[in-house]
Formats: sequence, C-alpha cells, structure tokens
Amino acid sequence: SRTPVTVTLTGAGGQIGYALLFRIASGQMLGADVPVRLRLLEIPQGLRAAEGAALELQDGAFPLLAGVDVTDDRAAAFDGVNVALLVGARPRGPGMERADLLAANGGIFGPQGAAINAGAADDVRIVVVGNPANTNALIASAHAPDVPSERFTALTRLDHNRALGQLAAALDAPVGGIRNVSIWGNHSASQYPDVSHATLDGAPALPLLAARLGGAEPAERWLADEFIPRVAKRGAEIIEVRGSSSVASAASATIDHMRDWVGGSPAGAGWTSAALPSDGSYGVPEGLISSFPVESVGGQLRIVQGLEISAFSRARIDASVAELIAERDAVRALGLI
Ligand code: NDP
Repeated sequence: SRTPVTVTLTGAGGQIGYALLFRIASGQMLGADVPVRLRLLEIPQGLRAAEGAALELQDGAFPLLAGVDVTDDRAAAFDGVNVALLVGARPRGPGMERADLLAANGGIFGPQGAAINAGAADDVRIVVVGNPANTNALIASAHAPDVPSERFTALTRLDHNRALGQLAAALDAPVGGIRNVSIWGNHSASQYPDVSHATLDGAPALPLLAARLGGAEPAERWLADEFIPRVAKRGAEIIEVRGSSSVASAASATIDHMRDWVGGSPAGAGWTSAALPSDGSYGVPEGLISSFPVESVGGQLRIVQGLEISAFSRARIDASVAELIAERDAVRALGLI
C-alpha cells in the first residue's frame, strides 16, 4: 500500500475547513487511490471545532484516511507536510485599519512559513486561501527561504470558476464547453477577470457574446459594467443572498487548485488561474504573487505565455498589480517580509 500524503489544513475548525475536510478524505483532491494523513491546525479557540470535525471524519469511515491529528502547535502540524492548505486568517474586524489587518496576518503567516521551512517535505505545495491571500502567501514565502518560492501560491480558482459560471450563463451554454478564461492580479475587488481569449466549444467566445447581446459594443459594455464587477464582488452577493459567506464554492475551488497542481491539467481542459510568484511575465514585477492564466505540467504550475494583451486588459492588470505592490510595500514597511 502507498505511503499516505500528509495534508495540513489551517483554520480547520472554520467553515471552509469543514467543507474541505470531507472532500479531501474521500479522495477528491489527491485521487481515489491515494491515502491521506490529515493534520488540523487551529488556534486554541478553534480547537474544539476542529476536534469535532475530526470525530465526524472518523464517522465517515473513509478508507483512504490514514489518520487525523488536531493541534495548535505549528511545528507538529507542518512536520513532513506535502500539501498545505492555509485557510485560517484574521478577518477584518469593525474599525480595523488595513495596516492592522496586515500586521495581524503577518503574525499568522510569518511563523507558519517558518514552520513550513523547518519541517516540510521536499515536495511541499502550499495554497493560501485566507485573505488577503496573495500577500499572506508572500509573507509565508519570505519566512521559508529554503522552500522554492514557486511552491507558495494563493487561490484565485474561485474567481476563475465564478467567471466561467457567469460567461456560461451569458452564452446560455454548459460551463463544460468554456475554456481559457483568466484571472489576473489580486484576489480582491481589483482583480481582472479576462474573457478575451475564452472559447465555447472551440470557437472564440467574444463574437458569440456580441451576437447574443446585439453587437460588439453592447458586449463590451456588458463585460465592463456587469461581468467584471459581478465576478469581483460575487463574495458580497453570496453573503447578501445566502446570509453567510461563500464556503462550499471556496472549498471546491481549493480542491480544484490542488488537484490540478498535483495531478496535472486534464488533457484538453485549457488553462485555469492561480496566483503564484511572478517571473516578470506580462510586465508583473518579479516575485509579486499575482494571478495568471496557468497550466499544470509535470507537477509544476506554469504561466501561460504569449497571450495578446489588449489596451483594456493592460489597464486592468496594471491597476490590480498596483494594489499588490502597495500591499507588498506595506508589509515591507511593517517588517513582515
Ligand atoms: P472561513 O473558513 O469562512 O474563511 C477562512 C478564510 O478564508 C478567511 O480569511 C476568508 O477571508 C478566506 N476566504 C477566501 N475566499 C473566501 C470566500 N470565497 N468566502 C469566504 N471566505 C473566503 O472562516 P471561519 O471564520 O469560519 O474560520 C476560520 C478559522 O480559522 C477559525 O476556526 C479560526 O480559529 C481559524 N484560524 C486559525 C489560525 C491558525 O490555524 N493558525 C489562524 C487564524 C484563524 P475573508 O475574511 O476575507 O472572508
């Protein structure tokens, strides 16, 4: 039998953690033949909730589940970790300034990066879900000098999936026929969901959209005034309609991100989106953790190269990247990186 893969989940007592755990244990992230050992990290106030989830995992009788440990000790949680899902973060409280938020998260992600540096397996892969995700990933990476920086990623797959869903609805087509939507920049309201290279059943999506909406101009208006803000603000829409935040879709996107990274992009599926350290591609400053169109090849995420960037896209990408630069400079000024 195979050696179990060690998966560490932070914020395991929270909502997204609860939605993630059962899908990991059932093999939906790493494969139906891959045993997993779960390490659930929580802060002391979250331990009981994580312990309760561990009891329910036992009650799930998952054949692939080789063990579950619940701890508030970072070193124990990240010892030998192969896959790290960093979900727990400090939410913005009432009246909290941005610098306070960044400092509070620096106190979480800096030490977690150090613990990953000290204990992780050589093949460790990390995705940050907790917000501000891109900058939290940057902080963790800065505290893990021995871990290749490209192992630190942040989740924009939920934004990507939201863009797929909105475009499919607008084209009145099944989401499975759509390829090559891209999310650029920060996982925040400044992100740029880009459909300029998207296709439906192999045909460019923009002309199809124009045909449905009565011309190129109405299609452009729809993209700028409806599609982009709706994708970027979808989290707020879910809170308003559902009465609580998007949890299952966030967990589902986290599964998608790690499944494709470890297992490779499925053949013919086109690209997806993830935030990873820039190599300078598309004018994004090197080292900034920004979202790009990516493919997963040979166990590595690669930025899709050579895409034509329109003036409209350029301005939107630059605006979101400017926000990432400001966040990086702020955490630098606070001494967090
Ligand atoms: P959730 O599980 O709902 O959310 C966790 C994090 O994911 C938040 O930072 C949230 O950001 C972020 N997030 C990213 N995408 C989404 C999305 N689409 N919808 C909602 N959230 C998203 O939060 P809970 O409060 O239920 O749980 C957090 C847990 O983390 C708590 O149990 C807490 O104790 C724990 N924690 C653990 C730490 C650790 O292990 N060291 C450190 C800090 C907290 P946003 O706030 O912007 O919604």
